[in-house]
Amino acid sequence: MYADLHLHTNFSDGTYSPEELVAQAARNSLSAMALTDHDTVEGCARTSEACRTAGIEFIVGTELTAEQDENEIHILGYLIDLENPRFRTEISRFQQVRQNRIHEMAARLNAIGISLTAEDVFALANCRSPGRPHVARALVKAGFCSSLDQAFERFLKKNRPAWVPKFKMSAAIAIELIHHAGGVAVMAHPGLNRTDDVIPGMVEAGLDGIECFHTKHSTHMTEHYLELAEQHGLLVTGGSDCHGLSKGKPLIGTIRVPYEYVERLKARAASRRAAPKAPAADFAAP
Ligand code: AMP
Ligand code: FE
Ligand code: FE
Ligand code: ZN
Repeated sequence: MYADLHLHTNFSDGTYSPEELVAQAARNSLSAMALTDHDTVEGCARTSEACRTAGIEFIVGTELTAEQDENEIHILGYLIDLENPRFRTEISRFQQVRQNRIHEMAARLNAIGISLTAEDVFALANCRSPGRPHVARALVKAGFCSSLDQAFERFLKKNRPAWVPKFKMSAAIAIELIHHAGGVAVMAHPGLNRTDDVIPGMVEAGLDGIECFHTKHSTHMTEHYLELAEQHGLLVTGGSDCHGLSKGKPLIGTIRVPYEYVERLKARAASRRAAPKAPAADFAAP
């Protein structure tokens, strides 16, 4: 039995609907799958329902955009309680910040004569946590660019005219928020960060696990992170990080981790829920 613990739908920057994603999971004989859309859990209800019909175990998840020592870090939150009031409030504040950023990007584009509106982006994104990939798609759709790559190259990359820095909560706050909602916090694709120096600080903040298996990890990286996980006593996870067709070939099926990793995640969430809750820390969205 195998699982994919890192998947996106069109509720963030993937192209598959929840139903399409689950159909792909079934085609790839997955026994369990987690949905980890960026800074949102909106797709979980539909994905869960589609999984139930397909006989696949669904694991609630999200991928929070965070920061540790000035590095952007993605933190996967698994098995969170979707009804947790503080989690719901914080995530909707975070989504508002993302939407404000789109308004700012549109204003910057307008300032250089590109008449794209934030509404154009929202209409196309159809999700509450839009980002640069949606602006890129809107630029292509409106005929301002011929490809997504060109949109990034000309306008959206760091220090290009429409680039707007992204707000990130601290990794410690992301981890605490996931724990507060009864979930398990896992550092996503550590091999994509330029440094491992960020890891001890996050372990200190309560990080539960590390995503050792990821499409962009070489065999060497995977071995390295498996060793680091062992050293720090971290859980191991893995997933394809499939975004559907937005990045070429769909990646679902390329990474399949043994089901026992899912069992360990569930055991950790259960022990976390049994333990008394720490007092709430304040979240600092601007
Ligand atoms: P954001 O979180 O809004 O800053 O957007 C980051 C996302 O943009 C990442 O998930 C990347 O996949 C995507 N991205 C970044 N650079 C490029 C690029 N040059 N071409 C296509 N997608 C990109
Ligand atoms: Fe993404
Ligand atoms: Fe990520
Ligand atoms: Zn991802």
